[in-house]
Amino acid sequence: MIVLGIEGTAHTFGVGIVEDENSYCNVLANAMVTYMPEKGGIHPREAANYHAEHAAEVISKALSQSNLSMNDIDLVSFSRGPGLGPCLRTAATAARALAATYSKPIIGVNHCVAHLEIGRGVIRECEDPVLLYTSGANTQVIAFAEGKYRVFGETLDIGIGNCLDKFGRIVGLPFPSGPIIEKLALKGKRYLPLPYSVKGMDIAFSGLLTAAEQYYRKGEDIEDICYSIQETTFAALVEVTERAMAHTEKREVLLGGGVAANKRLREMVEIMAKDRGADFFVPPKELCVDNGAMIAWLGLLMYKSGIRMKIEDTTIDQRFRTDMVEVTWRG
Ligand code: AMP
Ligand code: MG
Repeated sequence: MIVLGIEGTAHTFGVGIVEDENSYCNVLANAMVTYMPEKGGIHPREAANYHAEHAAEVISKALSQSNLSMNDIDLVSFSRGPGLGPCLRTAATAARALAATYSKPIIGVNHCVAHLEIGRGVIRECEDPVLLYTSGANTQVIAFAEGKYRVFGETLDIGIGNCLDKFGRIVGLPFPSGPIIEKLALKGKRYLPLPYSVKGMDIAFSGLLTAAEQYYRKGEDIEDICYSIQETTFAALVEVTERAMAHTEKREVLLGGGVAANKRLREMVEIMAKDRGADFFVPPKELCVDNGAMIAWLGLLMYKSGIRMKIEDTTIDQRFRTDMVEVTWRG
């Protein structure tokens, strides 16, 4: 079965095409464009306009990457949520237009679950992981338990990526600041104490952000501040992930989201996994960030497990919770 998936929850508009091969995911195409605000944060309406302007071009690019035409596609899927309303509506409209024009079935999927399923889909050894999902807007620890994907811990305020980007904006770094902070942190030598807010299984970053800003205003070394931000926030993420692994007795950890590109985060999660005798997995970067291939793959899993949607049921859901998904494709 060949599926075309459309991602558009936030800054990225992506179109992926996948097929299943002995129940694993074969990515045939994964095209994307990313909206970069000239100044400040992401404006939902402007991001959606950007997606609308680029939709046709990205769809064509994915089809040509895969050497396929719409006639070869068996299903169209798209991200129903969670995400920014205008962006979600744009991606959903593109998916509905394709499905209606070419008489293809359509399925809307949960974006967070897609981040986890793509890891299981492309990494053979990865069967039942705890996912540490670290993106711009989202930060969640997700695992399959008693028939559902459950959120074991999450941020109480902003996502880890947003925390990094916001600090970057305060100190005048361009967006996205995460990769630049990673480089600066490599040269940091001195740990500056920052608030470490793990509350039960949840995490908060805004207090740390304020404290980091104060260090900057006091003239502390930017490399030391970046180093301290990474060490503190990543330690909190690893602590919650480890506790979820202990609680669920799972022996695999999977990283996802744009911040998964960070080498220090990878290293810290890997050390924790090794200590527990667990396996550590991280998909290739283009499948960690928001992308259409993961949306296509989850659509495929859902369709094959018998799920069908009428076009009138393909409404978006800005607050589509991970644990609202009926998991019909896992035994
Ligand atoms: P996503 O929302 O999943 O597309 O990921 C985007 C986020 O990942 C942005 O907040 C970036 O700043 C962040 N990011 C990307 N690369 C890195 C990196 N190497 N280190 C830290 N954060 C990163
Ligand atoms: Mg994402």
